[in-house]
Amino acid sequence: MAGEKILIVEDERAVSRGLEYALQDEGFEVFLAETGMEALETTRTAEPNLILLDLRLPDISGFDVCRTIRQEGRRQPILMLTALDEPVDKVLGLELGADDYVVKPYDLRELIARIRALLRRAYGDLSKASQGEKITFGNIVIDLEQLRVTQDGEPVYLTPTEFRLLRYITSRPNRPISRETLIEAVWGYDSDIGSDRTVDVHIRHLREKLEPDPAQPQWLLTVRGVGYKFQAPG
Ligand code: CA
Repeated sequence: MAGEKILIVEDERAVSRGLEYALQDEGFEVFLAETGMEALETTRTAEPNLILLDLRLPDISGFDVCRTIRQEGRRQPILMLTALDEPVDKVLGLELGADDYVVKPYDLRELIARIRALLRRAYGDLSKASQGEKITFGNIVIDLEQLRVTQDGEPVYLTPTEFRLLRYITSRPNRPISRETLIEAVWGYDSDIGSDRTVDVHIRHLREKLEPDPAQPQWLLTVRGVGYKFQAPG
């Protein structure tokens, strides 16, 4: 994975410089942005493989940056960094499309482990699916080789986390799967975020993107007291 591009969005130079050196040391190519607008511009031009996003920025907030990146259909993993330790902020970050959340002060080695896990999840083992394998339900086709989802032939933009969750759950049809199992399989490590809430938010996003009526899901069903299940057609 050497040479993957990481964008650090952080207005405190002392913080970003330390991160920059550490990541370059790990073989990553590092880009820096000090404002939210600069972050959006660099995301468009440099197309980083992963974005480290500070929440408190001088112009627009990290939340706004995250939302705009997703609205533009970009799917690279976003790891939010913040000094705030408010549960409400963590949930809001997830709502807006962040993949994970790290609270400052963080251990640098732990942060790098998170980055590697996110990159692996996004670009690594996802493509190990068998050639040409597809999962189809309703008007949805999940192409496991191309890592693409289409609805009536039109692309549906999922984040890597959403894609992984969808792939996992649809590969095990008609079987209740606990939130703990999903966290273990999809995230693969302990997140700072309460795991149940993390799963619920991502399932809701998938329903909003894929279900004809997200409030009355027909494929991604809630199994009360357990977790979720994919109701295969027919
Ligand atoms: Ca800041």
